[in-house]
Amino acid sequence: LVRRMRGYGTTIFAEMTALAVRTGAINLGQGFPDTDGPPEMLERAAAAIREGFNQYPPGPGVPELRQAVADHHKERYGLAYDPDSEILVTVGATEAIAASVLALAEPGDEVVVFEPYYDSYTAMIELAGAVRRPVTLRPVEGRFTFDPDELRAAVGPRTRAILLNTPHNPTGTVFTRDELEVIAGLCRDRDLVAISDEVYEHLTFDGAEHVPIATLDGMRERTVMISSAGKSFSVTGWKTGWIAAPPAYVRAAQTVKQFLTFTASAPWQRAVAYALREELPWVARLRETLQANRDRLITGLAAAGFRTYTPAGTYFVQTDIRPLGFDDGHELCRALPSLAGVVAIPTQVFYDDPAAGRHHVRFAFCKRPEVMDEAVARLAALS
Ligand code: PMP
Ligand code: GLN
Repeated sequence: LVRRMRGYGTTIFAEMTALAVRTGAINLGQGFPDTDGPPEMLERAAAAIREGFNQYPPGPGVPELRQAVADHHKERYGLAYDPDSEILVTVGATEAIAASVLALAEPGDEVVVFEPYYDSYTAMIELAGAVRRPVTLRPVEGRFTFDPDELRAAVGPRTRAILLNTPHNPTGTVFTRDELEVIAGLCRDRDLVAISDEVYEHLTFDGAEHVPIATLDGMRERTVMISSAGKSFSVTGWKTGWIAAPPAYVRAAQTVKQFLTFTASAPWQRAVAYALREELPWVARLRETLQANRDRLITGLAAAGFRTYTPAGTYFVQTDIRPLGFDDGHELCRALPSLAGVVAIPTQVFYDDPAAGRHHVRFAFCKRPEVMDEAVARLAALS
């Protein structure tokens, strides 16, 4: 294995899912739902296969899906993108992130990321030979946020991009317009690209509004906006994502994407195009179910002794384990199947700063209500 990948080993998601499988514990670790997405969308995928939609689709993506993404962004956010030159379909948001980072960061360039960071960000920055500059999100009055001065201090002469994620995995923070304005101001002043991971754009609670950074003044022209179908439509295994960005960024990402995968799988693209047009009411119901799950889980975690941070978006609850008498999240997560029959994710692996992350553990609530109830009942064993 090349030197720059040696620190990466097996991802925490694979490790913790294997632990759940081995022990039979309820898997609130890796974030994937245990129910299917909208039935008609599933049928559209099956129909696409039956109808022979099974060969290489065009590299930039099936026109139907590019149009549906463009219409979605226009209707939902008032952002106009040309489906031919400004949308690129990718193999999940993961490939969109990979292609964007590899296409935009030269070796030695710096990329600012907020920690806890999603693990693929740092791996891709490393593969690009670039350098990450983490800015820590810390709890302030029960919500994770950043210090604008720390963000400003992280931007230097070699900074090329700020990679952000809102709604944020794992803290559940939905960046406010004010927070985004700080990031946008830096992008404008220092001529940076915003690479914006918005895979949880539809999963917000209590009326929290998801604001794409591309909607802020002067940002559409310097933002690579990324999303995918996995979370919105409960099809994490379909790995269908997309980039919306000005033509030069889309061309750059596509140049890289050609040699990562050339193109994304065909049948899902048709089904996702349908879902983006017709199934947002289904997503609204999913959001309600998730919000009820969130509240159930938070009550259970608090009763078990965790300090919880109520997420405004995503399907994760970030916790602090110190009130339980534990300090090391990884150690607790390894023991959790035997202590309580549940699996979670130690988010310390998403921090450069061990002191900031060591005591945080993330629980997913994208499971059926009865599974959440059973998990909560089991967690009571900890108290
Ligand atoms: N970004 C974040 C913040 C995520 O949580 C995930 C997990 N699905 C991804 C990107 C990857 O998305 P996809 O499965 O579409 O590649
Ligand atoms: N995005 C999901 C999570 O955060 C799954 C990630 C993965 O398995 N790579 O749990």
